[in-house]
Amino acid sequence: MTIFPQLEIPETIAAGPGPGNTDARVLARFAGAGLADHMHPDVLRGMVECKKMLRDVMGTKNVHTYGVAGTGWSGLDVMFSGVMPGDKVVMFVNGTFSGIDGLTVRMKAATAEELAANPSDPKPASVTIIDVPHGQSVTGEIVEKALAEHKPKWAAMAHWETGSGRVNDIQGFSDACEKHGAMGLVDAVSSLGVEDFRIDDYPGVHGWASCPQKGICCLPLTYAPVSFSDQFIEQLKKTGTRTFVHHPIMEARHWGIIDGQDVEKGTYHRTHSAYAVAAFHEALRITLQQTVAQRAKDYAFHEAALRAALTEMGCEITSNMTSLIVLNLPADMAGREMELVQHCRAQNFGIWPTLSEPVQVRIGILNLLNQQAISGIVDKFGQAIRDLGATFDQDAVSSALDEHYGQAIAAE
Ligand SMILES: *Cc1c(COP(=O)(O)O)cnc(C)c1O
Repeated sequence: MTIFPQLEIPETIAAGPGPGNTDARVLARFAGAGLADHMHPDVLRGMVECKKMLRDVMGTKNVHTYGVAGTGWSGLDVMFSGVMPGDKVVMFVNGTFSGIDGLTVRMKAATAEELAANPSDPKPASVTIIDVPHGQSVTGEIVEKALAEHKPKWAAMAHWETGSGRVNDIQGFSDACEKHGAMGLVDAVSSLGVEDFRIDDYPGVHGWASCPQKGICCLPLTYAPVSFSDQFIEQLKKTGTRTFVHHPIMEARHWGIIDGQDVEKGTYHRTHSAYAVAAFHEALRITLQQTVAQRAKDYAFHEAALRAALTEMGCEITSNMTSLIVLNLPADMAGREMELVQHCRAQNFGIWPTLSEPVQVRIGILNLLNQQAISGIVDKFGQAIRDLGATFDQDAVSSALDEHYGQAIAAE
């Protein structure tokens, strides 16, 4: 028998695509919650309050709006559980995460025979995957063309594809879904809490799923936000789905959503943690206090500063998300991306490579929305590429940052 020493995990700068830096207030509520069971009145009240605040964060009147215990994939699994074997689906893929969404959809839509033929990578006849090259966005035209041709029951895409750092056209997607009678499903894991948008402004989209650890800044494993339109729920009532725990209607019950109505307190679905509820509650309070609109402005502002500095170092930026930069290294360093990322990570500076081809470097700013944090990233990254032999004009980098932040101060 081996009892290992207590696990120590060092403090790192989480400067990747996620998880983001959890707010100290969230951790304090997590550790500060008393032990109370999942039917305690304050836990149930907390869940109902979370549900109501989440509707404001997501910008929706959808009754079926709540959190799914776990990570982004947990929420996505609840959303995609609407897809039944044989359902016709068009899925747009432009990077790692929408690629996995596509795999999820193929697993759900496969018939028993199709699944048995290739259990871990089924290729059901009813699913069309539209591949958009890495580094490009899914445009409204691409969606319109595919939905006009295939007329599917469901269409799905990522709002922000974190693998390639690209923002996809949610308006064009929603419009095409409405026009062609498809029910849209959106992976909003990377955009919720970062971009200023209201899901009710996209009536072609009937299912949304996000995560705790990115824009909502609530990693200590809590809740993946989901929201479903009444039409989605009506559809699901007709077909049913083969899951208890991730059933979109059953999972809603503990949050006080029963028979399509808000009720005062929830009924048992599974054992929720008072710690997780308290943390999620605080994360939502923080988002609403700061406002989604202000956070979105802050992300855009600080991303622009980081972008300017990295461009001065000779990097080529191919992303357009505001929480994440995806870049090619200066030409003379091409091919050394993994070496650089490992060098940074060895110093607890947590940047990332891309997880699917081509290999690029990803630097994120989740909950790092101040000049000091951005300058720190720039300094660390600059030192790391110098360590690998790069040269660049430090004065130009510094003045790019000064200009960005100086102007902002002057404008205030
Ligand atoms: C991070 C991410 C996921 C996966 O979320 P987990 O929290 O790791 O389960 C899915 N989709 C997108 C777009 C993401 O950015």
